Amino acid sequence: MISMLPYCASPCHYQRRQTRVVSVGDVPMGGAYPIRVQSMTTTDTCDTEATVKQIIRLVEANCEIVRVTAPSIRDAENLQEIKAALSQQGIKVPLVADIHFTPNAAMIAADYVEKVRINPGNYADRKLFQIKEYSDHEYEAELERLEKAFKPLVLKCKHNGVAMRIGTNHGSLSDRIMNRYGDTPLGMVESALEFVRICETYGFRDIVLSMKASNPQVMIQAYRLLAARMDELSMDYPFHLGVTEAGDGEDGRIKSAIGTGALLDDGIGDTVRVSLTEDPVAEVPVCYALIKPYNDRLQHPPAPQPERIDLQSRACPSNGLVISETRNPYEYGRRPARWLDVGGLRLGGSYPVRVELAPRTPLVEVADLMHEIEVLVRPARKDLPACEIIQLRVETEPDIEACIAVAQGLRARGLMAPLAVNVSSALPGWTRLLPYVAKLNVSPAPHADESVWADRLGELIEAVKAAGRALQWNLSPACIPSPSTGEGEGEGKILEGLANTALALVHLCQAHTFDGYLMAIDGAPTIPAYRLLAAELAAAGSETPLTLKTARYAPADALLCASLTLGSLLCDGFGDVIEVGSDLPSTDAVRLSYNILQGARRRISKTEFISCPSCGRTQFDLETTTQRIKSQTNHLTGVKIAIMGCIVNGPGEMADADFGYVGAGPGKINLYVGKDCVERNIAFDLADQKLIELIKAQGKWIEPA
Ligand code: SF4
Repeated sequence: MISMLPYCASPCHYQRRQTRVVSVGDVPMGGAYPIRVQSMTTTDTCDTEATVKQIIRLVEANCEIVRVTAPSIRDAENLQEIKAALSQQGIKVPLVADIHFTPNAAMIAADYVEKVRINPGNYADRKLFQIKEYSDHEYEAELERLEKAFKPLVLKCKHNGVAMRIGTNHGSLSDRIMNRYGDTPLGMVESALEFVRICETYGFRDIVLSMKASNPQVMIQAYRLLAARMDELSMDYPFHLGVTEAGDGEDGRIKSAIGTGALLDDGIGDTVRVSLTEDPVAEVPVCYALIKPYNDRLQHPPAPQPERIDLQSRACPSNGLVISETRNPYEYGRRPARWLDVGGLRLGGSYPVRVELAPRTPLVEVADLMHEIEVLVRPARKDLPACEIIQLRVETEPDIEACIAVAQGLRARGLMAPLAVNVSSALPGWTRLLPYVAKLNVSPAPHADESVWADRLGELIEAVKAAGRALQWNLSPACIPSPSTGEGEGEGKILEGLANTALALVHLCQAHTFDGYLMAIDGAPTIPAYRLLAAELAAAGSETPLTLKTARYAPADALLCASLTLGSLLCDGFGDVIEVGSDLPSTDAVRLSYNILQGARRRISKTEFISCPSCGRTQFDLETTTQRIKSQTNHLTGVKIAIMGCIVNGPGEMADADFGYVGAGPGKINLYVGKDCVERNIAFDLADQKLIELIKAQGKWIEPA
């Protein structure tokens, strides 16, 4: 068990983090208020008409708070015009001024807006990338300098009743923080705390905090660590969630759902912004889709809660479960699992997380099913990922014949992807499948008599072992002797029942000297169930590989729901196989599976793009430029390319990109290799070609297929 600060009330039952209420104009956030939705304009702030128009479109889309960049004093002053124009039209949406590097602009903006966002990495510090050892005395002197620079804004916000977001970004930590804590979640947290302490010194507590990063793993760890530190320091400030520079389209939504969704499921987060390189209006429905399950819980009368949750007790305050986790929620580490061979495909150990999927064509339509499987395992285009394990469901005796026909047909066509078959051990004749399949996914039926249960499953284990096949135990509430249902206690009993059944199966397999098995959970709250299962397996010394299965989602929900559920577990190092359940066309489901693995940084199968959402500082059309660069470089598997709108924030915030394409001024681009600017002020028309030449010069280019 890892002894460390806990970041939430229980890892196996949802409970929202208790925070103070901070009002942003007429919109209160935190406490028991709904999680709020916000976005940011992309127009030039001095262009009042365009900015007001975009704000109105955001408000019409139900955006509750709108951020506007204030890069200069002129922009900050124009916020007054924007406010007046909105007010003339009866629009009272709270505005947030976004400040980087310009304390003077912040002081002006605080007269006109309801909230000011500052970046602790650059409010009082220039990023010089200096490596310097600070003595304690020098560090103290730095903090005094910081206080002097920041105090006027604190006092002004306090006087004006303006809220403040202390918004840390992973890529733009000050040199002081970098030198002492490194480019780490701890550095991000300490960076914010420097500013929080100054606010508290002057009695200002209308603060909201954020810890954004483009890497969802880093972002999740930083927010969790912040929650834990807040609790340790008896601070209860609300959190603004967001994955920064998430990009566009499916990938941008997946990254956002992984990072933001994982935290929402931990009970963390009071307001959300999804940063997409698209029209900002497109961000709003994504925010609402992510927060809906958590805001829906607010409609029920909340269960009575203790005044303050005792986070040191690991007994869940809602369902009583006690969990001793080995997971480190603040640092990525893959859960140890032994490796298995499944029809020639290795999984677990240090092998990549595998993708398993059930085709949509019914088993009895043998010819059509074979065609669908062929498309899945041998995609028409080289850049499309292949499904690695094909899953079939056998429920009746005729299904056995159909399954054998499919397996034989695939072999005849040279399609050797491993077949997994979901089957009940009670189905007569199932052993006939063994020569044709690589993995049996078995849901173990409960039995009142434990020895009968062990005998029946023991026979099954021996048959699978003799055939040299792999066995996946699919655990669901139906496997538990008389589970109860429902929330709270009932849910706790189900989770406990699943974990106990899993341990009984581990012991049974040990008794039969069989270790060719893995486990999956079905039909239970996915994230808590896997956390508890992993904790119990670890306590029993078992390194059983895990298949992460999702619930079955409608096509419209699959992208965000699967990303949230799998992303949370993958970012914590769980999972050796993933199985997305959905009614999507199966090729889309395979693509989604790989994209989730890439978003969670667990398996890289294509180029990684980091692009900022753009704002009033942007020097070119980010949306079309991003699309154009993507179309030329999306075959460079594993290469990370950042496309950033401005040199003020871009270089700092493009995180761990290999190459950066950054707006340097009107019609001008700077190119970066890592954090180093290698070509300056390239004419926009030539910049794509120069980027490709740079990638070639760095030896990372391959010709497209
Ligand atoms: S990097 Fe993009 S979003 Fe960030 S300040 Fe520059 S243009 Fe705006």
